[in-house]
Amino acid sequence: MKNIEQNWINSFKKPLIISGPCSAETENQVLETAKKLDKNYIQVFRAGIWKPRTRPNCFEGIGQIGLKWLNKVKKETGLLTATEVANSTHVELALKYDIDIIWIGARSTVNPFTVQEISEALKNTTKIILVKNPINPDVDLWIGALERLINQGIKNIGVIHRGFSTYKSIKYRNTPNWGLALKFKKLYPNIPMLCDPSHISGNRECLFEVIKQAMSFKYEGLIVETHCNPDKALSDSQQQIRPEQFVEFLKNDLFKKTNSKTEMELEHIRVLISELDQNLIYLLSERMESSEKVAIIKKINNLLVFQPKRWKSLIEEYKTLGQKLCLSEKFIENIFKEIHKESINLQNKIINNI
Ligand code: PEP
Ligand code: MN
Repeated sequence: MKNIEQNWINSFKKPLIISGPCSAETENQVLETAKKLDKNYIQVFRAGIWKPRTRPNCFEGIGQIGLKWLNKVKKETGLLTATEVANSTHVELALKYDIDIIWIGARSTVNPFTVQEISEALKNTTKIILVKNPINPDVDLWIGALERLINQGIKNIGVIHRGFSTYKSIKYRNTPNWGLALKFKKLYPNIPMLCDPSHISGNRECLFEVIKQAMSFKYEGLIVETHCNPDKALSDSQQQIRPEQFVEFLKNDLFKKTNSKTEMELEHIRVLISELDQNLIYLLSERMESSEKVAIIKKINNLLVFQPKRWKSLIEEYKTLGQKLCLSEKFIENIFKEIHKESINLQNKIINNI
């Protein structure tokens, strides 16, 4: 897989921008949205035809008729077309309607049976097939999906980073894992990687920030959801923006910025640092939850909050580990003194019912 050249990306302007609604809803909505996407910036029109919805009885996609609308978009605007498939029937129809780019969604990537079925239905196709990351951060599952496609003689492949479902997520719908995406890119530099900031953000507020972060990682492209009337969208309405707004952003912000190489490199590292710092905060929060649990046991059993012997042995253990990882003794001591102090305060509050 490492050596498979992916030349398909070179036939597009870089970055490759794919945009369009989460779902095709009506012919008018599809055509209106497509016509507002400026072809100078956007090369491919996306629309979901079959929608994997978390709960039943929601809008589950318009089905086959939507593929006709995509054909119409291509004829009237010249944009290429892209849609998601989740089984062999979808594949047959997408091929029949000559969709240019087919993607496998996050909920399908997690299931090897589904990926195998899709891969077999796509056997030897020359279409471009993009694989979204699985909903959980399992790189092997992601790589496995690509291998299944390659095993069926599929040559033009790429991946989409759309974030991961996390147990605690405050800011994002699907937390990005830039570090993991970067590792993937290092392992397989030839495989084009796109970013899906819409499904990462889940809202309009942090969408542009995520796009900028993604671009600092030199992704080969973006897939962004746009809808001519986002508030009325039948799926993912909170994260969709108007096509005009997206075009404005591309024109005035993303492509206009003449960032120097140093600025780009700095931005790239800063995004990684901030991801690591945020992970530290999540860990600290989990750490304090454990302190709360320990406090309850201590309270029931009348044990002292501060256990000097345990603290001494732990701090020594941490310093040794820190040294092995090039972290100074003083640094480890300072950090853990603070964590310990906070933990003691918290436990005292619980024990004394404050
Ligand atoms: C989509 O692109 O509309 C979609 C369903 O995405 P994901 O598979 O990332 O959830
Ligand atoms: Mn969507």
